[in-house]
Amino acid sequence: MLIDSFKRPIEYLRLSLTDRCDLRCVYCMSERMRFEPHDQILSLEEIERVCAAFIRLGVRKIRLTGGEPLVRRNALHLIGILGEWVRDGRLGELTLTTNGTRLAEFAGHLAAAGIRRINVSLDTLDPERFAALTRGGRLERVLEGLAAARAAGLRVRVNAVALRGVTDRDGPALVEWCHGQGFDLCFIEVMPLGEGRAVQDAASLPLAELRGLLERRWTLADSPYRSGGPARYVQVAETGGRIGFIAPEGHGFCHECNRVRMSCTGLLYPCLGREVAHDLRPVLRSGAGDSDLDRHLSDGIALKPAHHAFAAGCSAASPARAMSVTGG
Ligand code: SAM
Ligand code: SF4
Repeated sequence: MLIDSFKRPIEYLRLSLTDRCDLRCVYCMSERMRFEPHDQILSLEEIERVCAAFIRLGVRKIRLTGGEPLVRRNALHLIGILGEWVRDGRLGELTLTTNGTRLAEFAGHLAAAGIRRINVSLDTLDPERFAALTRGGRLERVLEGLAAARAAGLRVRVNAVALRGVTDRDGPALVEWCHGQGFDLCFIEVMPLGEGRAVQDAASLPLAELRGLLERRWTLADSPYRSGGPARYVQVAETGGRIGFIAPEGHGFCHECNRVRMSCTGLLYPCLGREVAHDLRPVLRSGAGDSDLDRHLSDGIALKPAHHAFAAGCSAASPARAMSVTGG
């Protein structure tokens, strides 16, 4: 079992398959984002080996993310292997976070591989604002992807970053549309990572304000529903759907945090809101055996701090790395 220094069992791995992406969301990547050289990126075989080690040590859930996981060549090959591990009971759940641009092509394959639910990031249904926020993305493609996910029977949660000038205008329409489609919707406050630090200062929309705005139109009741993460949900009486809210500030969730993250280069990040990381690539490439790898995973977990370092008005103290390194 992987137990950290604060007696939290680690059961959830978020795995970045690539730092590349076909979009450039303003709160995530700079326009001229520099990516890791190919030889620094773990091969799919190396990633498979790390996953097997995590599972051996008690991880029950893996979420594939990025960058955009579906732009990684042969991602489906790894997804197929991990899906097999879900089928034979080695792994409890395999999920994916995607920007949706390639879902029209992939949704059926994901469902066939054993994925049951996915998160799709979509901040607005306004094509122009979508293109501006993603620096050139086409909303239409994401909507086609979401339709394909629905048709394939995948459960979808749409994630939207709460932005002033966007969510205060387009949030209600997004709620109405998502609930009409049978999708949960989760609003995420801008987190002070990489490009998000400047966006947080300039355009973050506090979730309490957003909730107040939504309450002008709908009746929201706090819900005990939990999706296994930091989101707090409300039930919307009129639509019958759910809305989640994820705020980075506060440490309310840290004491029960059961997750760690790994970058596509093999850096194990025990906490999203800290710089600390343990490099697994040298051990993976040194010919070391499984017991050495297991020991390195435990060493990385031992670095997990009691709580993150996100703090209101203190973005200078937050990690400089982009969210795309760890996939959120
Ligand atoms: N490319 C995929 C996507 O967009 O869903 C997966 C990776 S992306 C980094 C994962 C999530 O992080 C997305 O929902 C995105 O909106 C969110 N994200 C990126 N930068 C953020 C920031 N600074 N604050 C809050 N959420 C952020
Ligand atoms: Fe790409 Fe996702 Fe980052 Fe947007 S949030 S740039 S889609 S990795």
